[in-house]
Amino acid sequence: MSNPPPEGLLLLKGNLLVCPSCGETYGTHVNTAYVSARREDREPQEIHVHGITGEVRHDSEEAPVGSKIGVGRRHRIALTGWCDGCQGEFAIIFTQHKGETYVETQLINTGPTYVTGRRSSL
Ligand SMILES: [Zn+2]
Repeated sequence: MSNPPPEGLLLLKGNLLVCPSCGETYGTHVNTAYVSARREDREPQEIHVHGITGEVRHDSEEAPVGSKIGVGRRHRIALTGWCDGCQGEFAIIFTQHKGETYVETQLINTGPTYVTGRRSSL
């Protein structure tokens, strides 16, 4: 097993995503795109697109937030996924803030029922 990347960083091995939880590349899945559309300091509009079903939702479920910059001052785009190897669930978050784009990873699984509704095998 590889070492997990430092908390909050997005790491690649070549063109492959590294699981932010266990550090492996094999078994990672990215399934959902979250867009928190927002003009500077305005209220966000939350949009979710499921990459497998094609379902598009406009609702109040907030896109995952990174720990470094929080919600920032502008829009945020997050991709969520999970890992076959460790069953961890993660988000890759792009946050636009003061002319820069922060890129962070965040672990988002919260127990036997994951944020995406997927059930743990435990
Ligand atoms: Zn993993």
